Amino acid sequence: MQLKCDCERVEIEFAHEPIASLYCHCADCRSLTKMPVYQGMAFEKKTMNIVKGQQSISSHQFHTHALKRYFCRECGCFLYALNRLGFVTTSAFNFSQEDQGTSQPSCHLFYGEGVIQMDDELIKYQKGSEDLKKQYDDKQSK
Ligand SMILES: [Zn+2]
Ligand SMILES: [Zn+2]
Repeated sequence: MQLKCDCERVEIEFAHEPIASLYCHCADCRSLTKMPVYQGMAFEKKTMNIVKGQQSISSHQFHTHALKRYFCRECGCFLYALNRLGFVTTSAFNFSQEDQGTSQPSCHLFYGEGVIQMDDELIKYQKGSEDLKKQYDDKQSK
């Protein structure tokens, strides 16, 4: 799967499908997007390859937030963030509609911290990262 920033100076490729595709309700993601909920995908960092535009990537870590954010310094587009478990997370909307379609969200994270209720059938984890890590470890051990 591949993402490009709006000005197309930065191009990033992921060698594998996301570990998880989810809605996140945590304060960090809300702060990142300025939206009540974040629709994101998590990837293993080693599967990420910056195809071009490394010199255009700028990062920021606000002291109270666990997420380190990476942007295109030319167009301001949010590219990805690194979370406290070392996973890369990026917005589902950084990908083409086709790619989004193959990786629909399977759960909600940090639902207990959220500010919006969502009426769907997905699993709603009240907390987040540990649950996600467990889901990932289970997957690996299969
Ligand atoms: Zn750009
Ligand atoms: Zn979050």
